[in-house]
Amino acid sequence: MQSYSLSASAKINLYLEIIGNRADGYHELAMVLQSVDLADRVDLRPTVRDFIQVHCQHPEVPEGPRNLAYQAAALMMQKFPNFSGVEITIQKQIPIGAGLAGGSSNAAAVIVGLDLMWQLGLTQSELQELGSELGADVPFCITGGTALAVGRGDTLSSLPPLDHLYVVLGKYRSMAVSTPWAYQTFRKRFGHSYAQNVETLESRRERVHAGPMVSAIFQRDARQIGHLLRNDLERVVLPEYPEVTQLRDRFQQLDVLGTMMSGSGPTVFALTQSRSQAEQVRETVGAAIASPDLDLWVAQMSSTSIQPL
Ligand code: ATP
Repeated sequence: MQSYSLSASAKINLYLEIIGNRADGYHELAMVLQSVDLADRVDLRPTVRDFIQVHCQHPEVPEGPRNLAYQAAALMMQKFPNFSGVEITIQKQIPIGAGLAGGSSNAAAVIVGLDLMWQLGLTQSELQELGSELGADVPFCITGGTALAVGRGDTLSSLPPLDHLYVVLGKYRSMAVSTPWAYQTFRKRFGHSYAQNVETLESRRERVHAGPMVSAIFQRDARQIGHLLRNDLERVVLPEYPEVTQLRDRFQQLDVLGTMMSGSGPTVFALTQSRSQAEQVRETVGAAIASPDLDLWVAQMSSTSIQPL
């Protein structure tokens, strides 16, 4: 059996609308998800013995069963018991607790990598189904690109690629937001405005499906996409993190297509038409804020997520 090295991309949300409650306790969402080429490296090595080992030097990433990559390997070994264990080495580039689905993309890399290593020949939808047992973001991280996601965020429809666009991502190293906290707080504060029955839920979901963001993406209309960025979770996260709001305001003042928090934050991104424009924005914002706690990256939108290296 062969070893595999994969790159596992981060994702941003170009659109995140909270529609209502679901019977399973999750939120009903309508999102546009986008892979970006800020990526972790995940190495998989077959072992002769029947156990999983995770190595990751990042101090905030657990190496045992709490690691999502570990959980992905455990799931695969349970579903395909004829194969022995795996040693997983993760080199993190994607910041932790950042709203960029770093853990989910590592889990996706393990599922895709073990499918290759064990020569299972699973289809994309079989891989996604396995991923959805681990978390709502994992199915998207398996396929990547640009997608409309409804339900918990794991019912996906592909959209045309946007890899002509770039982002500047900004995150304060010392800040992390818990995704469950963000959604629970949103429910407490804004639950009264949720769709109250199946018909309203369905019609609001349809409205996004046939809505202006999706048509702007079909038309590859970068200005409109920038104009239509939306993330409902900003309403609960931004008031708690004034520095994040300031960073967002800084981006907004520059010549960018649009700016928004990604997922449950606290990463904020600014959308640009070219790499040189993104580099310029990164330089200007870095100089203006001049905080050693602030990390800024330039990334290109990507049409894939998990790629063998
Ligand atoms: P999402 O956008 O899906 O909410 P996130 O980017 O906000 O994800 P992660 O970086 O995935 O959050 O990490 C959230 C938590 O998961 C952290 O507390 C971290 O310790 C834990 N974790 C478990 N496995 C991993 C992994 N492989 N990589 C990063 N974090 C992991």
